[in-house]
Amino acid sequence: MYSITVPPGEHTLPPLPYPYDALEPIISSESLRIHHDILHRGYVEGLNRTELMLVEARRSGDFDLIKYWEGELAYNGSGDILHSIYWTVMTPPGMGGQPQNYTLSEIRRSFGNFRAFQEQFEQAAIKVEASGWGVLVWNPAWNRLEILQAGKHQNLTIWGSIPILVVDVWEHAYYLDYQNRRGDYVHSWWDLINWFEVERRLLLAMRGQMPLTIWQR
Ligand code: MN
Repeated sequence: MYSITVPPGEHTLPPLPYPYDALEPIISSESLRIHHDILHRGYVEGLNRTELMLVEARRSGDFDLIKYWEGELAYNGSGDILHSIYWTVMTPPGMGGQPQNYTLSEIRRSFGNFRAFQEQFEQAAIKVEASGWGVLVWNPAWNRLEILQAGKHQNLTIWGSIPILVVDVWEHAYYLDYQNRRGDYVHSWWDLINWFEVERRLLLAMRGQMPLTIWQR
């Protein structure tokens, strides 16, 4: 599998895979230049700055601004990833061919037929509230495709990430036992973690898999 470790603060702007005028007349050269060179670069630089601030927070133990930096991480990280994908899934008008075998069969398996997929994708994209994206995703936990709307880029996630270790901090998870003391709950919760399962999930995620149940001995 192709993968490179990107250390904190070392993301780079991927080059456009075609000239600026390649998508005309559908997307103009001027629009593409601003979008890629200025806006996408802004996300990459914001992501690098954020990651270095988080490195510093971990070093100093000062997490007073953690909520702000986690928001910046999700915003810039998702902005970078979604734009990087957006550039690569476009090509000059008429040059992209037809939906290929696996694409077509998985779309049919997940949505019934191509027309239904196209209609839902288009409507989802058109009806995104304010700024955002229409996104076709493969859900490795359900083994099928879904169509999602992304509000802005992120809503506190980074697209492409597979969950490994999660803690529920909705009140329903702790209110009966801890009332409003979420900190006591989160602090105590470390004693509950199954690190064997965390290890297994990590190894599977590194192969692109996301199981929903625990390994049965
Ligand atoms: Mn954009």
